[in-house]
Formats: sequence, structure tokens, C-alpha cells
Amino acid sequence: MIEENYLKVKQGIPSQVTLVAVSKTHPASSIQRLYDIGHRDFGENKVQELLEKQAVLPADIRWHLIGHLQTNKVKYIVPFIHLIHSVDSEKLLNEINKQAQKINRIIDILLQVHIAQEVTKYGFSEDEIQSLYQPSILEKYSHIRIRGLMGMATNTSNEQQIRKEFSGLKRLFDKLKCIPFAPHSMDILSMGMSNDYSIAIEEGSTLVRIGSNIFGERNY
Ligand SMILES: *Cc1c(COP(=O)(O)O)cnc(C)c1O
Repeated sequence: MIEENYLKVKQGIPSQVTLVAVSKTHPASSIQRLYDIGHRDFGENKVQELLEKQAVLPADIRWHLIGHLQTNKVKYIVPFIHLIHSVDSEKLLNEINKQAQKINRIIDILLQVHIAQEVTKYGFSEDEIQSLYQPSILEKYSHIRIRGLMGMATNTSNEQQIRKEFSGLKRLFDKLKCIPFAPHSMDILSMGMSNDYSIAIEEGSTLVRIGSNIFGERNY
């Protein structure tokens, strides 16, 4: 039962940690069921799938884009997206800013940082983030608000490895927090999925993205 799974996960998470239910590959009807018991934050990783679901579901859902975003798709989500977790290039920052400016909206985003050992995952390196996160560079993004960082740990059963990656991301997050300049606020640290969210919360996550533990295994 989706509802029972959800309540179990929700009850195990501190109230100050945001739960994003990752609904990718699952039908709109499953999202509606959680909506009906009061949940509002849902995450999708593909723009096409997100648009199809957004069109048929209640307008007050807070949609989170958590997968790689191509610049040519930015314009479709900018009108309604709540938070883009997966911003991984300056090219993408430029395009989001441009499309947001057109419709006079400020878009909340997270910078995705590559913390895992796997080479296939997207994201900035820690060094790239440090050189990017400077007033002189970010002031040109007038229609973007950087709210924090997102990262995915290595897919491994080695808990020490996972913990090390999450604590490294938290350290970077805290460092950037000390560079205060409006409107960027650095108050969201998005880390933790079904298999590793308890470790992520212990290491300072403020938002967890959970799919399988709520909706069940995915059939691609
Ligand atoms: C699919 C996905 C999740 C959720 O994964 P589960 O293991 O099913 O909880 C979280 N974050 C990202 C970026 C994803 O693509």
C-alpha cells in the first residue's frame, strides 16, 4: 500500500526535513493517492513525463525536477517548476535565467555536485562550485535563486563510503553558506534516497528524495 509506505517513511523523518516523493515511472493515479492524504512535494527525472503528469494533476503540487535537464527543455518547466535540483552547468544556468526572465519568474534551483565514485553521474566538481559561487559571477542570474546543493552518493553497501560523501557535501554547503549575498540563500541540502536517507539525515540533509520505499520497485 502506497499510503502505508508513505506514512511509515514520513514518520521516520524529522519534521524539519522535507520529503520529496519520487514518482518517476509511476502513474498519475499513484501521485493522486498521496495527494489525497495531504502530500504535495513530488519529484520526477524526465521533463516529458513531468509535463504529462502536471497536466492532469492538481495545480498546487510542488514539482521537483531531479534528473538531468537539457537546455532545450527548460522553457517547458519554467512556468510551474517548484525546484530544479539538477543544475549541472553554467550553460543551463544561462538558459534557466533567460527563460525565467521572459515570464518574469524567479526560479529556485540547487547546484548538483558530483560526490559519487561512479563516473556516469552528472554534476559540478567541488572546485567548479567554489569558482562559480561568487557574487561577481552569480549576479548576472537575476531570475535564479540558488537555494542549495544536491548530491547522490555512490551506489554501494559500504556505509562509511556513503557517509564520507554526504559529510563532504555538507562541509561544502556550510562553506558556501558563509558567503552571504542576496537573493541566494543556501538553505536546502538535497541528499538521501531510499537506500541511504538515514545516513544522509545524520550527515545534515534537509531534503530527501525517496521513490522505491514509497511507490515500490520501478519497472522500466
Ligand atoms: C530515482 C531517483 C531518486 C529516488 O530513488 P529511490 O532509490 O527509488 O528512492 C532520488 N534521486 C534521484 C536523482 C533519482 O533519479
